[in-house]
Amino acid sequence: GAAVASLGELLVEFVCTEKDGHNRRATAYVGPFPSGAPGIFIDQAARVGARAIFAGAVGSDAFGTVLTDRLGAVGVSDALIRVVDGVPTGSAFVAYNSDGSRDFVFNIAHSAAARLPGAGEAIAAFIAHGTGVFHISGSSLGDAAMRETALAVARGLAEAGVAISFDPNIRKELLGDPGYFAAVAALTALSTYVLPSEEDAAVLFPGEAFEAYADRLIAAGAESVVLKRGAAGCLGRDRAGATVERPAHRVEVVDPTGAGDCFCATYVGLRTLGLPFAASVARANAAGALAVGRLGPMEGNSDRPALERLLEPGS
Ligand code: ADP
Repeated sequence: GAAVASLGELLVEFVCTEKDGHNRRATAYVGPFPSGAPGIFIDQAARVGARAIFAGAVGSDAFGTVLTDRLGAVGVSDALIRVVDGVPTGSAFVAYNSDGSRDFVFNIAHSAAARLPGAGEAIAAFIAHGTGVFHISGSSLGDAAMRETALAVARGLAEAGVAISFDPNIRKELLGDPGYFAAVAALTALSTYVLPSEEDAAVLFPGEAFEAYADRLIAAGAESVVLKRGAAGCLGRDRAGATVERPAHRVEVVDPTGAGDCFCATYVGLRTLGLPFAASVARANAAGALAVGRLGPMEGNSDRPALERLLEPGS
C-alpha cells in the first residue's frame, strides 16, 4: 500500500513524576522517552500497519539512538533521518500541574532537531517511497527553517498528487508571528485531512459551528475534517456529508501528551490502508484514549489489535 510520510522535530523527553515540579525543587524525572509530536505520529502510523517514512535529525549521541532505535523497531524508514555531528539531540522536560496544564522546558534551538534534510531531497525520497499521505504537525511550524521546509514539501507533494494531512496544534504564543499564522492557514487550505483540536478550531474558525467550517473546507477540496475534543471524544465529517460523533472511551488520564498525534496517525494510517471514514474515526478515538492512559509521550501508542479490543462489535 501507499506510505505515510511526516517530518519535524525528534526529541527525547523527560517527565517529572511529581505534580507542579519544575519550579519547586529537584524531583524525580523519568526518561529519556522518544518524543516530538511528529515522531509520536509516525511511530503510531507504523504501528497501525501503514508503511512509514520520516524526515528528521538527531545528534550522534545516545539520545539520538533512543529515537532511531524506536522508530526502527516499528519499521519507519530512516532514509531521511539525518545523524548530525557536533550538536546534541533535541530534548524536552515536562512537568504536569495540578490544574492539568503542562510546563515545558525545551532544548531544541541549538540541537539537531531542526536540521532536516532539504525540501527537494525530502520530496524526491517521499515520492520514491510511494507516499500517499504527508502529515504535518503545527508543532513543527514554530522554527522558521523547519516551517519553510514543511511548507515547501507539502506544496511539492500536493502538486505531485499526494494527500496532505494537517494537525494545526496551534501554539498561542506564536500567533503574533505573521509567518507562523500564514503557514497554518496555507496548510489548512492545502489539506485533504484537516484534524484540529477544540483549541485549534477556536482560533481558526472562531464562532463557527463544526459542520459549517467542515463543509467549507470540504467544498474547498478537503476530503474530511475531524475535530479532536479531548475527554469529549471526537466529531468528524467527510465529503459524503455524514457527521460521525464518538464519545471518548472512559480511561484514567495518566499522561495526555501524544493523544492528539496518536489520534491523527491512526486516522491517517487507516485511511491510507483503505478503511472507511467512520471505522477510521472510531479507531483514532480509541487510540487517543489508550495514549492518555500511559506515562510517556509515545509509550501509549498502540497496535491494531489493541484498538480493536476497545471497540464494540460493528464499529
Ligand atoms: P490534543 O492532544 O491534540 O490536544 P485531544 O486532547 O483532543 O488532542 O485528544 C485527542 C483525542 O484523544 C481525543 O479526540 C480523544 O479521542 C482522545 N482523548 C483525549 N483525552 C481523553 C480522555 N481524557 N479520555 C478518553 N479519550 C481521550
